[in-house]
Amino acid sequence: MYCLSCNTETRRESLEPGLMAEQCPTCQGTWLALDDYRRWVAQAPQQATEALAATAELLEETSPRALRCPDCAQLLQKYRVAGHLKFRLDRCSACRKVWLDGEEWPALRAQGLTHSLLHILSDRGQREVRETESRERLDATWRARLGEADYAEAQRVRAWLAGHPLRAVLLAYLQASDSTLG
Ligand SMILES: [Zn+2]
Repeated sequence: MYCLSCNTETRRESLEPGLMAEQCPTCQGTWLALDDYRRWVAQAPQQATEALAATAELLEETSPRALRCPDCAQLLQKYRVAGHLKFRLDRCSACRKVWLDGEEWPALRAQGLTHSLLHILSDRGQREVRETESRERLDATWRARLGEADYAEAQRVRAWLAGHPLRAVLLAYLQASDSTLG
Protein backbone atom coordinates (compact mmCIF):
# COMPACT_ATOMS: atom_id res chain seq x y z
CA MET A 1 0.00 0.00 0.00
CA TYR A 2 0.95 3.64 -0.22
CA CYS A 3 1.24 6.06 2.69
CA LEU A 4 -1.99 8.04 3.24
CA SER A 5 0.05 11.12 4.17
CA CYS A 6 2.91 11.24 1.66
CA ASN A 7 2.19 8.44 -0.83
CA THR A 8 5.46 6.57 -0.27
CA GLU A 9 5.21 2.77 -0.54
CA THR A 10 4.87 1.32 2.96
CA ARG A 11 6.73 -1.66 4.45
CA ARG A 12 5.61 -4.18 7.01
CA GLU A 13 7.76 -3.40 10.02
CA SER A 14 7.66 -3.68 13.75
CA LEU A 15 5.94 -0.79 15.51
CA GLU A 16 6.70 -2.21 18.94
CA PRO A 17 8.39 -5.48 19.86
CA GLY A 18 5.80 -8.07 18.84
CA LEU A 19 3.58 -5.67 16.90
CA MET A 20 3.87 -5.47 13.11
CA ALA A 21 2.20 -2.81 10.96
CA GLU A 22 2.48 -1.26 7.52
CA GLN A 23 4.79 1.71 8.00
CA CYS A 24 5.93 4.56 5.79
CA PRO A 25 9.75 4.81 5.66
CA THR A 26 9.49 8.54 4.89
CA CYS A 27 7.01 9.98 7.40
CA GLN A 28 6.45 6.94 9.71
CA GLY A 29 2.72 6.98 8.98
CA THR A 30 1.28 3.66 10.20
CA TRP A 31 -1.56 1.40 9.04
CA LEU A 32 -2.34 -0.85 11.97
CA ALA A 33 -4.63 -3.88 11.96
CA LEU A 34 -6.65 -3.91 15.18
CA ASP A 35 -6.60 -7.73 15.27
CA ASP A 36 -2.78 -7.63 15.40
CA TYR A 37 -3.00 -4.86 17.97
CA ARG A 38 -5.42 -6.86 20.13
CA ARG A 39 -3.06 -9.83 20.17
CA TRP A 40 -0.13 -7.57 21.07
CA VAL A 41 -2.00 -5.88 23.95
CA ALA A 42 -2.92 -9.29 25.34
CA GLN A 43 0.71 -10.40 25.63
CA ALA A 44 2.74 -7.18 25.99
CA PRO A 45 3.26 -5.86 29.50
CA GLN A 46 1.78 -2.43 30.20
CA GLN A 47 4.58 0.08 29.76
CA ALA A 48 5.87 1.95 32.78
CA THR A 49 4.17 5.32 33.02
CA GLU A 50 6.78 7.11 35.10
CA ALA A 51 8.28 10.33 33.73
CA LEU A 52 5.77 10.41 30.92
CA ALA A 53 4.09 13.67 31.76
CA ALA A 54 7.36 15.56 31.42
CA THR A 55 7.92 14.38 27.87
CA ALA A 56 4.30 14.79 26.88
CA GLU A 57 4.10 16.61 23.62
CA LEU A 58 0.90 18.28 22.63
CA LEU A 59 0.03 17.50 19.08
CA GLU A 60 -2.25 19.71 17.10
CA GLU A 61 -4.29 18.18 14.36
CA THR A 62 -2.39 18.99 11.20
CA SER A 63 -4.69 17.59 8.57
CA PRO A 64 -8.42 17.37 9.18
CA ARG A 65 -8.77 15.99 5.64
CA ALA A 66 -10.87 12.89 5.03
CA LEU A 67 -8.88 9.74 4.23
CA ARG A 68 -9.93 6.65 2.33
CA CYS A 69 -9.19 3.11 3.44
CA PRO A 70 -6.36 1.74 1.24
CA ASP A 71 -7.94 -1.72 1.45
CA CYS A 72 -11.64 -1.10 0.73
CA ALA A 73 -11.73 2.60 -0.33
CA GLN A 74 -14.40 3.59 2.24
CA LEU A 75 -13.95 6.89 4.02
CA LEU A 76 -12.15 6.45 7.34
CA GLN A 77 -13.96 7.62 10.46
CA LYS A 78 -12.21 10.08 12.74
CA TYR A 79 -11.81 9.44 16.47
CA ARG A 80 -10.77 11.90 19.14
CA VAL A 81 -7.81 10.75 21.23
CA ALA A 82 -7.90 12.82 24.41
CA GLY A 83 -8.68 16.37 25.43
CA HIS A 84 -5.04 17.44 25.35
CA LEU A 85 -4.03 15.42 22.28
CA LYS A 86 -5.77 17.28 19.53
CA PHE A 87 -5.20 14.87 16.65
CA ARG A 88 -7.71 12.33 15.39
CA LEU A 89 -7.20 8.65 14.66
CA ASP A 90 -8.69 7.37 11.40
CA ARG A 91 -10.36 3.98 11.45
CA CYS A 92 -11.94 1.71 8.88
CA SER A 93 -14.56 -0.23 10.84
CA ALA A 94 -15.09 -2.70 7.98
CA CYS A 95 -11.39 -3.67 7.73
CA ARG A 96 -10.74 -3.11 11.47
CA LYS A 97 -7.61 -1.04 10.87
CA VAL A 98 -6.44 2.39 11.98
CA TRP A 99 -4.26 5.00 10.33
CA LEU A 100 -1.79 6.92 12.49
CA ASP A 101 0.20 9.84 11.13
CA GLY A 102 3.95 9.56 11.75
CA GLU A 103 4.05 11.39 15.08
CA GLU A 104 0.86 9.91 16.51
CA TRP A 105 2.04 6.53 17.81
CA PRO A 106 5.05 8.18 19.55
CA ALA A 107 2.62 10.71 21.07
CA LEU A 108 0.42 7.87 22.37
CA ARG A 109 3.53 6.17 23.73
CA ALA A 110 4.68 9.38 25.46
CA GLN A 111 1.27 9.62 27.13
CA GLY A 112 1.22 5.96 28.21
CA LEU A 113 -1.74 5.33 25.90
CA THR A 114 -0.43 2.58 23.61
CA HIS A 115 -2.48 0.01 25.55
CA SER A 116 -5.62 2.17 25.45
CA LEU A 117 -6.31 2.20 21.72
CA LEU A 118 -9.38 -0.04 21.90
CA HIS A 119 -10.82 2.05 24.72
CA ILE A 120 -10.12 5.27 22.78
CA LEU A 121 -11.99 3.84 19.79
CA SER A 122 -14.97 2.67 21.88
CA ASP A 123 -18.21 4.63 22.30
CA ARG A 124 -17.47 5.12 25.98
CA GLY A 125 -13.94 6.38 25.26
CA GLN A 126 -15.24 8.84 22.68
CA ARG A 127 -17.92 10.09 25.10
CA GLU A 128 -15.29 10.67 27.80
CA VAL A 129 -13.19 12.75 25.42
CA ARG A 130 -16.20 14.83 24.35
CA GLU A 131 -17.03 15.50 28.00
CA THR A 132 -13.45 16.56 28.76
CA GLU A 133 -13.41 18.82 25.72
CA SER A 134 -16.64 20.58 26.65
CA ARG A 135 -15.38 21.04 30.23
CA GLU A 136 -12.21 22.61 28.83
CA ARG A 137 -14.19 24.91 26.53
CA LEU A 138 -16.34 26.06 29.45
CA ASP A 139 -13.22 26.65 31.50
CA ALA A 140 -11.69 28.74 28.72
CA THR A 141 -14.85 30.88 28.61
CA TRP A 142 -14.65 31.60 32.35
CA ARG A 143 -10.93 32.33 32.09
CA ALA A 144 -11.58 34.84 29.30
CA ARG A 145 -14.37 36.54 31.28
CA LEU A 146 -12.40 36.75 34.53
CA GLY A 147 -8.87 37.38 33.29
CA GLU A 148 -5.88 35.25 34.32
CA ALA A 149 -5.29 36.71 37.81
CA ASP A 150 -8.90 36.56 39.00
CA TYR A 151 -9.42 33.19 37.37
CA ALA A 152 -6.43 31.80 39.31
CA GLU A 153 -7.76 33.32 42.54
CA ALA A 154 -11.23 31.95 41.91
CA GLN A 155 -9.73 28.49 41.30
CA ARG A 156 -7.89 28.72 44.62
CA VAL A 157 -11.04 29.75 46.52
CA ARG A 158 -13.04 27.06 44.80
CA ALA A 159 -10.56 24.34 45.78
CA TRP A 160 -10.60 25.65 49.35
CA LEU A 161 -14.42 25.62 49.45
CA ALA A 162 -14.71 22.19 47.85
CA GLY A 163 -13.46 20.28 50.87
CA HIS A 164 -14.66 22.69 53.55
CA PRO A 165 -17.16 21.43 56.15
CA LEU A 166 -18.80 24.90 56.29
CA ARG A 167 -18.99 25.22 52.50
CA ALA A 168 -22.71 26.10 52.41
CA VAL A 169 -22.33 28.72 55.16
CA LEU A 170 -19.30 30.26 53.45
CA LEU A 171 -21.16 30.47 50.13
CA ALA A 172 -24.12 32.12 51.87
CA TYR A 173 -21.74 34.57 53.49
CA LEU A 174 -20.03 35.41 50.17
CA GLN A 175 -23.40 36.01 48.50
CA ALA A 176 -24.96 38.04 51.30
CA SER A 177 -25.05 41.76 50.61
CA ASP A 178 -22.90 44.09 52.69
CA SER A 179 -25.94 45.60 54.43
CA THR A 180 -27.18 42.14 55.53
CA LEU A 181 -23.82 41.50 57.12
CA GLY A 182 -24.05 44.76 58.98
ZN1 LIG B 1 -11.37 -0.62 4.73
